[in-house]
Amino acid sequence: MSYVDEVLERVKAKNASEPEFLQAVEEVLDSLRPVIDANEETYRREAILERLTEPDRQFKFRVPWVDDNGQVQVNTGYRIQFNNSIGPYKGGLRLHPSVNTGIIKFLGFEQIFKNSLTGLPIGGGKGGADFDPKGKSDREVMAFCQSFMTELCKYIGADVDVPAGDIGTGAREIGYMFGQYKKIKSVYEGVLTGKGLTYGGSLARTEATGYGLLYITEELMKCHGESMEGKTVVISGAGNVAIYAAQKAQQMGAKVVTCSDSTGWIYDPEGIDVALLKEVKEVKRARLTEYAAARPSAEYHEGRGVWSVKCDIALPCATQNELHLDDAKALVANGCKAVCEGANMPTTIDATKYLQENGVWFIGGKAANAGGVATSALEMTQNSERLSWTFEEVDSKLQQIMVNIYHTIDDAAKRYGQEGNYVMGANIAGFEKVANAMIAQGVC
Ligand code: NDP
Repeated sequence: MSYVDEVLERVKAKNASEPEFLQAVEEVLDSLRPVIDANEETYRREAILERLTEPDRQFKFRVPWVDDNGQVQVNTGYRIQFNNSIGPYKGGLRLHPSVNTGIIKFLGFEQIFKNSLTGLPIGGGKGGADFDPKGKSDREVMAFCQSFMTELCKYIGADVDVPAGDIGTGAREIGYMFGQYKKIKSVYEGVLTGKGLTYGGSLARTEATGYGLLYITEELMKCHGESMEGKTVVISGAGNVAIYAAQKAQQMGAKVVTCSDSTGWIYDPEGIDVALLKEVKEVKRARLTEYAAARPSAEYHEGRGVWSVKCDIALPCATQNELHLDDAKALVANGCKAVCEGANMPTTIDATKYLQENGVWFIGGKAANAGGVATSALEMTQNSERLSWTFEEVDSKLQQIMVNIYHTIDDAAKRYGQEGNYVMGANIAGFEKVANAMIAQGVC
C-alpha cells in the first residue's frame, strides 16, 4: 500500500467522528501523491504525514458566562495548535453553534498550508467556541469573550500563537478579547490580529480576505487572456469576506448579482448595493430580507440557490460544504468559467472534481482566501515595529502576495505535470516548505 494510503487509513481510523477533518486530510493527501511518491523513502522515514496530521496540541475548555437574565450559560471553547514549523501558530477564532473539535481541526490543518503559501513566517492553528453571537446583547458578547479569553490567554502570546477573527468573530469580539488578555497578562502585545485601528489594528485587514480573493481571481483571468471587466459574478455569504469581495469585484468592473446568509439569498440583477448590504449586515446585524425591502431591484429567496444563477465567476464566501455536486453541474451548464473559494472548504470534493473535469478554473480556499491571514501577518509586523502603515501600503503588499500565490501554485502544478490544477499546486507548494522545515528541525 502506498504511504499516502497507509496514512489516510490510519487517520480515518483515529478520527472517525470528525468528517470535516477527514475530508480536509483526504483532499490534501490525495493531491500530494506526486510529491510523496517522488520522495517516499524520506517522508516515510521522517513520518512527515503522520506528524502533519496530528496537531502539536489541542485545548478544549469550559466557557461560563452570565446572560442578561442573570442565568449562567456554558459554552465549549477550543484552540488547536497544529504546526509551528515555519512560525508562531496563526489562525482565526470561529464563534458558531456548529463548532466542534472536527471543524476546528479541519480549519487548523488547512491553515498550515495556507499560511505557508503566503510566504510569511506563520504556522497553523485555529480555535473558537460553540457560542452564537447572533441575538446576544453587547454585554452578553463581552461576558462571553472575557470568559473565553480568561482561559485562552494561558496558551497564546505574540511569539507563540496569534488568533484572529473568523465566522462570528469580528472587530467587536476581538476588542473584548484583547482587553481581557491585557488585563490578565499585564502586557500590551500583538497577541490578536483584526484589532481596531486605535489599538494596533492594520488598515486594510477588514477588507483583506475579500480583496485578496479578487486579486487572485483577476490574476487567474489575466493569465487566461480575460479580465474582470463586464463579468457577472455570483457570491454566497453576506459577512466579512463576501462584502469586501463584492466591493472589490465591482471596483474591477464586474457585476455581482447575488449574496446569501444562513436563511436565504438575494438576486439583484442591477448589481448588489454594497453600501446597503454593509448597513444591513455590519450596522443593523439584520437579515437579508431588510436588504430586499430597501432595494426594489432585488429578489429575496428562502433557502439555498445562489449557484443556480447564470454567471462567469462564482465566489463561495459563506462556510464549508455549501457548494455541492448539483450546484457544480448548474454552474457548468450555465457557462461559469472560474470558481475561487473565499470561504474555507466551501466546495465538496465531488463538486470540485466535477468543476475541474469540466474545464472550470478552480482555486481552492487555501490559496484564494489567504489574503486575510497574510494581512494579519502584516499586522503582526507593524505591531513588532510599533508602526502603522498606510492603507495603500498594506493593500499593495496584499496585492503582490496574492499575485505571487497565483504564480507559486501555477508553477507547482506545472512542475508535477498537472497544469491548471491549482488545488494540487496549492497543496504541493504549501506542503514542500513546511515539510522541509520539519525535516531540518529534527524529530519534534
Ligand atoms: P462572517 O461571520 O462575517 O460571515 C459568514 C457568512 O456566511 C454570513 O453571511 C453567514 O450568514 C453565512 N453562513 C455562516 N454559516 C452558514 C451556514 N452554516 N449556512 C449558510 N450560511 C452560513 O464570516 P467571514 O465572512 O469572516 O467568513 C466566511 C468564510 O470565510 C468562513 O469559511 C471563514 O472561515 C472564511 N475565511 C474568513 C477569513 C476572514 O478574514 N474573515 C479569512 C479566511 C477565510 P448568517 O449571517 O446568517 O450567519
